[in-house]
Amino acid sequence: MTKRREFLRTTALAGAALWAAPWLACTPKKELSTMPAAKGAAGTFTLPDLGYAYSALEPAIDALTMEIHHGKHHAAYVKNLNAALVDFPAYQLLTLEDLCTVVLPGDLAVRNNGGGHYNHSIFWKLIQPGGSKVPGPKVAAAIVSSFGSFDAFTTAFTEAAKTRFGSGWAWLCADEKKKLFITSTANQDNPLMKNVVEKVGQPILGLDVWEHAYYLNYQNRRPDYIKAFMGAINWDKVEELYTKA
Ligand code: MN
Repeated sequence: MTKRREFLRTTALAGAALWAAPWLACTPKKELSTMPAAKGAAGTFTLPDLGYAYSALEPAIDALTMEIHHGKHHAAYVKNLNAALVDFPAYQLLTLEDLCTVVLPGDLAVRNNGGGHYNHSIFWKLIQPGGSKVPGPKVAAAIVSSFGSFDAFTTAFTEAAKTRFGSGWAWLCADEKKKLFITSTANQDNPLMKNVVEKVGQPILGLDVWEHAYYLNYQNRRPDYIKAFMGAINWDKVEELYTKA
């Protein structure tokens, strides 16, 4: 165990909020407009409104899937995160993004439900109807620079989503130099989780490949769901996240 991890563990166990200040100061503050505001106590995360009708993405994603996914699955991550934070005072001061960044692998209730809340919060925005159907100028240039072409990116992202075994997410991320890379994570982990994942980055596009995200309409046809998602991406939101990364 690294010294940093020992310190984080000590902080978590002690439950003394003030002890958190030194390492909070070291955490980059990159607030996303899509994220809930800073938190001061457990039990204050809330389910964000979807912002559009459950049926708005049909036929790519059906209304019943959206209703259950947002109203039941995402709502449960929020509820369970709030409940978990009661036992983890050191995480209570953090924004959702910072919580993901510092969460320890063994703090499973915070890791799973904090990740679940973060991942779904950006996912709804990334498929919000009405945005551009092609990448904006900054992301388009970064995609060509990082993958060679948009087609090469699409192939690689689709492959990452198809081959994520079991439940998880495929991601397009920006590294610290704003170069793009594709990765996937298990369960509700995400690339912010520097103590959990091998490859750390700022997510700018994420695809939920849990069966709950597509099974009602697509059953075992995950590739068809991935293709439908690729056509439903709101590239204005991707551009926005990339600009802030
Ligand atoms: Mn989901």
